[in-house]
Amino acid sequence: MSTQRPVAEGLFTWPSEHPALLGSRCPDCGETTFPVQRGCPACPSQACEEVELGRSGTLWTWTVQHFPPPHPWTGNAREFVPFGVGYIELEDGVRVEARLTENDPSRLRIGMEMELVIETFFKNDEGEEVVTFAFRPVEA
Ligand SMILES: [Zn+2]
Repeated sequence: MSTQRPVAEGLFTWPSEHPALLGSRCPDCGETTFPVQRGCPACPSQACEEVELGRSGTLWTWTVQHFPPPHPWTGNAREFVPFGVGYIELEDGVRVEARLTENDPSRLRIGMEMELVIETFFKNDEGEEVVTFAFRPVEA
């Protein structure tokens, strides 16, 4: 059995049965950001607190990427499969850029409901499954 590790620390709760993206909320003005940051982009506060963001949202815009992603992806370019990428507007009002589980344009439309999943991004040289977050369409 291969081990899993997140593509980066501090992006989402993992391992977890109900993983969530980690963001920041400003205690002074309520601005919410992703990923986590100390400083508030909307006011002078430097005391933003880490929060778990909502696990669902709507597809704000999207495209299909037909070339392999840059670092840290180290997969085999010949095995590369085009993938959807988009911005999801979460319930918190934050727009998050993310991979989509769907790469068929006929099955993606702006405004559709999406939910967070954790999926394998690639296998690294140590044979570990490197996992990242993605969003999949919520079946109607
Ligand atoms: Zn603020």
